This record gives sequence, structure tokens and C-alpha cells, in this order.
Amino acid sequence: DRAGDYRILHEADLRDYLAGLPDIAALLGGEASSWAITEVGDGNLNLVFIVKGASGGIAVKQALPYVRLVGESWPLPLSRAHYEYLALSKQAQLAPGLVPAVLHHNEVLALTVMELLEPHIIMRRGLVAATRYPRFVEDITTFMARTLFFTSDLALSAAEKKEAIAAFAGNHALCKITEDLIFTDPYRIAEQNRWTAPHLDGLAASLREDLELHVAVSRLKLKFMANPEALIHGDLHTGSIMVTDSQTRVIDPEFAFYGPVGFDVGAVLANLLMAYFASAGHERAPGDRAAFEAWVLETVEQVWTEFARKFLDLWRAGGTGDAYPVSLFAGEQGAARLEAERQSYMQRLFADTVGFAAAKIIRRIFGLAHNIDFELIEDPRTRAVSEARAVRLARAMMVETASFRIIADVTNAARKLR
Ligand code: ADP
Ligand code: MG
Ligand code: MG
Ligand code: MG
Repeated sequence: DRAGDYRILHEADLRDYLAGLPDIAALLGGEASSWAITEVGDGNLNLVFIVKGASGGIAVKQALPYVRLVGESWPLPLSRAHYEYLALSKQAQLAPGLVPAVLHHNEVLALTVMELLEPHIIMRRGLVAATRYPRFVEDITTFMARTLFFTSDLALSAAEKKEAIAAFAGNHALCKITEDLIFTDPYRIAEQNRWTAPHLDGLAASLREDLELHVAVSRLKLKFMANPEALIHGDLHTGSIMVTDSQTRVIDPEFAFYGPVGFDVGAVLANLLMAYFASAGHERAPGDRAAFEAWVLETVEQVWTEFARKFLDLWRAGGTGDAYPVSLFAGEQGAARLEAERQSYMQRLFADTVGFAAAKIIRRIFGLAHNIDFELIEDPRTRAVSEARAVRLARAMMVETASFRIIADVTNAARKLR
């Protein structure tokens, strides 16, 4: 029973295990006994160790058979490590240099050894500190455009696409977390929910009675469940992005599956918008983060426009998938009609993106998993003010999605609420 061979690797076991991998041991250098091993996992699900030797370092991620944030009472399949490995490998191929290189994977131990990202930090932390990242737009839009386009029916044959869907279909336990925690629980009484109380008690109650919102979020949930458009990262928040001034790396694709493209793009926009609203709560003097806040909204705009531009360019240059047969769009008129259709595809994708972004905001304020953008605002009154502004925008984005026609409609609405 191979699954029976799983064990949680504590520091000493990990040292022995790595010493038995010649390439990894050589990369680390020196005696195994001299390697420095630190557990740094700050995520909700897994263990992550950083190991440093005389000549190099690595990161080691191991899945636990349960949700780390909650404990053994909430089991979660180890197979998520397999899907993360599969997704990382695909992303490395499609978006070279934008994910950590995989150095070793052990299916039974649900363990992956990766390139150590150093001196990268989690982007969310940088945003709390009002740091601007000049490479971010370029890198994240390349990552999204390439991973999403090349795994879609616009690029793949029907057979390739369905095989690829099948390869990720077993990751349904991770999808279920999203289905429950993002699309359902924040809108009902659920044991795991929490919010800044008592300040947001009224807002939490109004969300639970808001049937227009319940319809809108249920439509998004159905779209998430029933639209295998492309291989999505599935957890593309600013805690899954590691950065320096000059580099961007996307980590942690354990939620990857074939789902709606707008879910990933919406995740990035939602997390930037939350950084924007939270920023007021991190001011030391009025206006001292104004330049940062302007950069965040500019970045929201550029993430959408650059993503859309790159995705469309990939489609124009390589729309070889089975979805839009070239033979149906022959000649000049055909080409023009196809180009107009590409534009309306992007308009629908924009609406999905706006809706999913809204869902990602609301879950961080009323659901189980919160983010440090808001959580590090110590004064609960100040935090509640930032959170309530974000929720007002999110409600409008979800229920009145059609009134947001272009990305500037989103940033203008955000600016008015600040
Ligand atoms: P989880 O699935 O539990 O959220 P993550 O993959 O997000 O785990 O990793 C948790 C933390 O470990 C990250 O926030 C980051 O600080 C650190 N980490 C993960 N991968 C690397 C890496 N390749 N290099 C350096 N640090 C990493
Ligand atoms: Mg994570
Ligand atoms: Mg996480
Ligand atoms: Mg994770």
C-alpha cells in the first residue's frame, strides 16, 4: 500500500530524506548535518521548509492529510500535491521563468522540492508596506495570458483539451473548498465565518438577506463549477505571488483545475483592490500612501488592459484550437467578423472577471480565510471602515456587473469610495 508509506517529515526525517537525493544534496553542499532547516509555512494548508547548505538553498513543500489552518478534524486529500506538481510543470513550460523550478517530486510523500525564491517576499506583505512593483504588470499578465490561452480550446484540439480536463478532474476536493468558502458560506450562517465585530455585524446580516446578491454569487458558482475553459491557477491572490523589484514568481497552484479564465484574472484584481482599500488603514500620516494608492489603481487598470492585449495577440497569432475553425472565417470579411467576435469574447471575460473579483473580496471579509491587508490594521474601527468600502464596491461589481463596461469603471468606483 503505497499511500500507507506517507509520513509527515519532521526536520530530522527531512534531512535524511534530502541527503538521499544526490542532486539535491550536491546543490545544498557540505555535510547534511550542517544544513539549516526552517519551517516557514504561513499558508492555510501545507508545510513549507527552507533548507540551506554551504552552496545553495531549496524550498520543500509537503501536503498534510488535513487543512493546516483548521487541524485534523478537516481532512484534505494528499493528491493536491500531485495537482500542484502537474500545474507547476505546465506553467513552467508555458510561462518560463515565472514559477519556481521543480527539482524533485515524491508522489507518495506528497512532497515537492523547489527552487528557493530569495530574496523574494510574498507580494501581499510588500503591498502592506506600500511597496510598488514595477515588473508586476508585465510578468503577471504574461503568466495569465500564456497559461490561460494555451490551455484553452482556442489553442488546443478538442481531444487534447478533454484529456487535459481529465488530468485535473480529480482535484475536486480543492474545488469544493472554493465552492463552499468563496461562493456559499459568506452569504449564510456558517461556523467558520468571521468578520470585524461588532462593526460589520449589520453588513454581515444584510449579505445574508440580499437575494439579488445570492442569485449573482450562485451564477458565479455555477460558472466556476461548469465552465472548464482553461487550466486556471485557482488561488491567484497576492499571497501566491513572490516578488522582488525586478522579479515576479507565481507559487502554490494546488487549486489548479480546468475552470473559468475570469477566476484567475478576477483574483489578481480583487487582491489589488483590497490592498487599495486597506491602505487607508495603514497610513501613519494622512496622505502618506497616496503615491502607492495611485500606483495600485493604475496597476488594476494595466493588469486588465495588458492581459487582454496579450491574450488577444496570442489568439490572433495562434488560434489553432478547434473552437473557431479558420475555414469558417475566410477572406477579409471573415477575418473582420472573427476579430469582432474576439472583442466580444473579451467583453464577456471582463464581466466574469468583475464578478469573480467581487466574490474574492467578500470572502476575505466575511468568510474563513482573511488576509493581512486588512488583518494588520490594528484598530478594528479603522479596519471596518476599509472593509466596508471594499464590500460596497464588491456588491456593486457582483450585482450590477453590466454597469462596469471598462476597467476604469472599476477604478473610478474604488476612488470614489476611498
Ligand atoms: P500553502 O499552500 O500552505 O499556502 P504556499 O505554497 O503558499 O503554501 O507556501 C507557504 C509559504 O512558504 C509562502 O507564503 C512563502 O513564504 C513560502 N514559500 C513557498 N514556496 C517558496 C519558495 N519556492 N521559495 C521561498 N519561499 C517559499
Ligand atoms: Mg499559499
Ligand atoms: Mg492559501
Ligand atoms: Mg496553497
